[in-house]
Amino acid sequence: MIYDLIIAGSGSAGAAAGYYASKAGLKVLMVDAFHPPHTEGAHHGKNRLIRYAYGEGEKYVPLLLRSQQLWQQFEADAGVRLLHPCGVLNAGPRDSLFMTSLAESAERWSLNVEPLTPQGVARRWPEITLPAHFDAVFEPDAGYLSSELAVEHWIRLAREQGAAQLFNCPIKSISRDGDLQQVVTDEGTFSAARLLISMGSRINDFVASLPVIQTRKVFAWFQADGRYSENNHFPGFSIGLDDGSHYYGFPAQDNALKVGRHDGGQPGVSDNKGFPFGSYPEDGSECFAFLRQCLPGVGGCLYGESCSYDNSPDGDFIIDTLPDNPDCMVITGLSGHGFKFAPLLGEIASEFAQQGTLPDGLRPFSLSRFTR
Ligand SMILES: Cc1cc2nc3c(=O)[nH]c(=O)nc-3n(C[C@H](O)[C@H](O)[C@H](O)COP(=O)(O)OP(=O)(O)OC[C@H]3O[C@@H](n4cnc5c(N)ncnc54)[C@H](O)[C@@H]3O)c2cc1C
Repeated sequence: MIYDLIIAGSGSAGAAAGYYASKAGLKVLMVDAFHPPHTEGAHHGKNRLIRYAYGEGEKYVPLLLRSQQLWQQFEADAGVRLLHPCGVLNAGPRDSLFMTSLAESAERWSLNVEPLTPQGVARRWPEITLPAHFDAVFEPDAGYLSSELAVEHWIRLAREQGAAQLFNCPIKSISRDGDLQQVVTDEGTFSAARLLISMGSRINDFVASLPVIQTRKVFAWFQADGRYSENNHFPGFSIGLDDGSHYYGFPAQDNALKVGRHDGGQPGVSDNKGFPFGSYPEDGSECFAFLRQCLPGVGGCLYGESCSYDNSPDGDFIIDTLPDNPDCMVITGLSGHGFKFAPLLGEIASEFAQQGTLPDGLRPFSLSRFTR
């Protein structure tokens, strides 16, 4: 059997790719070392923020707007609620790069945003305290996604649409035999016309010389009461401090508010299970200064989890075919902000499997940017 597409790594982007490719009628094989959703990669911890006014750069906005449509369609198809538009409050020192890019992207794409002063923020959410020299922008359409649930339903629908799934089966090697892409596992060797490698930073084990650094990151849940809940209109948030550190978080659920620090972490450390929350002294404390300054009413740390970022040198995604193998597409370097794009990445991979090319709009995410 020769598949149209083999998906090496069926976590976030790979699970979505399996869903779109099987929906398009392709013969698909989805492979994963574990059974997604699971806690060994980058999609666990229940939820992920989705924002459209994007401090990471205006080039992402068209991709975000398409992702939003795809999330809505996928919700309808799966029959579950995944997208929670609770609103996201962005804030940081006036004129910081993140806030400037965010304002530019909102203006260029006429996004629905509401600039607020620190006093305006305090009036609306008395729980949030921002320094007087901060800018704030509230984006009411932004919110969070139920990430584990999304992966579960991509996997389910892909299976129902006829995708073959080989889970708890680590890929041992990837090779090429003439026009065929080959994936070797303990269960056998499988061949396809096209291959998607969507293994996060594990791609380094198979494709030499990709500039991706696996970085261990943690998030933790802190004690918070009903004032911090979605029911009380408490928003998601993405807030930078003066020292350049950046924090994000979610409305509290069951009196626990999830917060994480986006920068920092432990480069080169993989294996979430081997280095669980608490393995490093800063795990429990890295958000304290932020919480004291901006959310002073939030209580102690309840529990946490470790997760994995696949960081590229510039923090931008890598979505490309390999220079010496145009039938092999890679999605990596998602650098801790890729989940919200997963349906779009899946759609792109499915189109690549059908047409053999990638859309021109992906040029900012090409591998050649590192060699120019
Ligand atoms: C702490 C944290 C917070 C985040 N917050 C946000 C956020 O708020 N908003 C947002 O948009 N994004 C966020 N992200 C980023 C987002 O979750 C990731 O970019 C995204 O989940 C990565 O998708 P992926 O498909 O590359 O990786 P994964 O979902 O991890 O999938 C990769 C898959 O490859 C499999 N694999 C690895 N090696 C092998 C092998 N040898 N053989 C077979 N399979 C293999 C793994 O088992 C895994 O299932 C966050 C990430 C973390 C860790």
